[in-house]
Amino acid sequence: MVVEMHAGLASDGGSKLKMLLTFVDALPNGNEEGIYYAIDLGGTSIRVLRVEVGAGSVIINRKVEHQPIPEELTKGTTESLFNFVALALKNFVEKEDGKDEKRALGFTFSFPVRQNSVSSGSLIRWTKGFSIEDTVGKDVAQCLNEALARCGLNVRVTALVNDTVGTLALGHYYDEDTVAAVIIGAGTNACYIERTDAIIKCQGLLTNSGGMVVNMEWGNFWSSHLPRTPYDISLDDKTQNRNDQGFEKMISGMYLGEIARLVLHRMAHESDVFGDAADILSTPFILSTPRLAAICEDDSPDLSEVRRILQEHLKIPDAPLKTRRLVVKVCDIVTRRAARLAAAGIVGILKKLGRDGSGAASSGRTRGQPKRTVVAIEGGLYQGYPVFREYLDEALEEILGEEVARNVTLRVTEDGSGVGAALLAAVHSLNRQQQGG
Ligand code: BGC
Ligand code: MG
Repeated sequence: MVVEMHAGLASDGGSKLKMLLTFVDALPNGNEEGIYYAIDLGGTSIRVLRVEVGAGSVIINRKVEHQPIPEELTKGTTESLFNFVALALKNFVEKEDGKDEKRALGFTFSFPVRQNSVSSGSLIRWTKGFSIEDTVGKDVAQCLNEALARCGLNVRVTALVNDTVGTLALGHYYDEDTVAAVIIGAGTNACYIERTDAIIKCQGLLTNSGGMVVNMEWGNFWSSHLPRTPYDISLDDKTQNRNDQGFEKMISGMYLGEIARLVLHRMAHESDVFGDAADILSTPFILSTPRLAAICEDDSPDLSEVRRILQEHLKIPDAPLKTRRLVVKVCDIVTRRAARLAAAGIVGILKKLGRDGSGAASSGRTRGQPKRTVVAIEGGLYQGYPVFREYLDEALEEILGEEVARNVTLRVTEDGSGVGAALLAAVHSLNRQQQGG
């Protein structure tokens, strides 16, 4: 991971790790004040937010509305997707503030974007099952601005950010030792604060802080060291982004259930553990990740929840306890591999920052004192799946060693990707005012 981080920072296309510039050189510090909006367009849903902040890191009020994205919009046209998003904001603004309200807007767009500035950038490619050809290469902030104008709303994008960057912003707002953020939800990714002089591919990049947030797009990380199995290859073959997002496809919520399904399918094929009832296991995505989680979390002595899921969702009635145990084992292995890979990725960032305790160049130690390091983390897998979280925490401690791990905190943020985007809109609308623009 560290080698690829260096390669991605050295040149565009130097690595499958894109290491994208975000133009975020200042993070909220608690002095922000006012009311801001945000839109968070993620993998499976959109959120619209209104955040009222006061000096001293106080969030006076936050209002969040949540809406699933209709599947057909993820494969339709740019216009229909952005109209949907703009309309959601319009309805929300009208209800909260009235039609003519004009406020700074943070737009969280959770896909790889090549940014030109903090408020603009073009989509590199879709991930997480989205495929709308004509959006690729377009400025997504402009797409949203146009949709907002079409529906008569007087609000424009102030900050365009990745969800990891929003999460980092909220983490940093509460705790200045926050240096990185990780998302493990439908997709996975991380960002961190890099020194501008280490961003070789962008020589002469100057910022007031001397640093900039880099969006790693670690979902696309690839290495021959990764424990790739035939199941990963079959899964990849059937995705619309084949050969991309290899790390993501081993870790994130969109794929874990499907990996386990492929393993169970092969078992059904090569043995009679599932009897005749096994045909349904040939249906892609029949085992969702929330169900995989429920299977792993079942701690009843007779695995009654596993029985229920097998019966109701996989149409495998009366699986004996031994078979239910086998299913748990498969789901557990898939979960554990994912969590450990994510932990290894986090250690990669810590290593790059000199905070993994190895004492290499730019060591995180000042006069022998190890630095406290906080990583903001968000997403359904870490937040809603205790077994996953345990495995990840355990692996982190295993790799770092107990002593170093004591100085590393993973801090869960709630709606950080959206609230953080609102805060970044605050920071950047302030900057603009100060610069008289
Ligand atoms: C996207 C990232 C995003 C991550 C988590 C990935 O598929 O490429 O931009 O941060 O999902 O939502
Ligand atoms: Mg999200």
